[in-house]
Amino acid sequence: MTREFTCIVCPNGCDIKTEIKVGQDGKHEICSIDGALCARGEVYVKQELTDPRRSIATSVLVKGGVLPLASVRLTNSIPKDRILDAVTEIKRCSLTAPVFSGTVIIKNILGYNSDVIVTKEVPASEK
Ligand code: SF4
Repeated sequence: MTREFTCIVCPNGCDIKTEIKVGQDGKHEICSIDGALCARGEVYVKQELTDPRRSIATSVLVKGGVLPLASVRLTNSIPKDRILDAVTEIKRCSLTAPVFSGTVIIKNILGYNSDVIVTKEVPASEK
């Protein structure tokens, strides 16, 4: 079967066309691959076929800060089908200013060896 992918590993976003065979054991075999500008494209396709993963960047509420939100992101990608669960868990958090970049707000989210860290500092507001 033919399958097309857009590689998300780098900003080039290569459109990759593949011919894939599925064996009786359910495993995918890539028969041909076209359109990837580098070898990471094939690694990405193999990952998509076996264990698709994504990372996310979002924000959490900050109390008493000069900004109402602090941006956060995952340190490692997690299974694509658990992204909504991760967002739900992150949205339960709120922080109190000052908030420092790099602070871990959730360790090992959903057990996938990925932490949620702050990516934008939010100083406390002066009263
Ligand atoms: S195949 Fe290589 S160059 Fe193309 S988007 Fe993926 S990582 Fe970037």
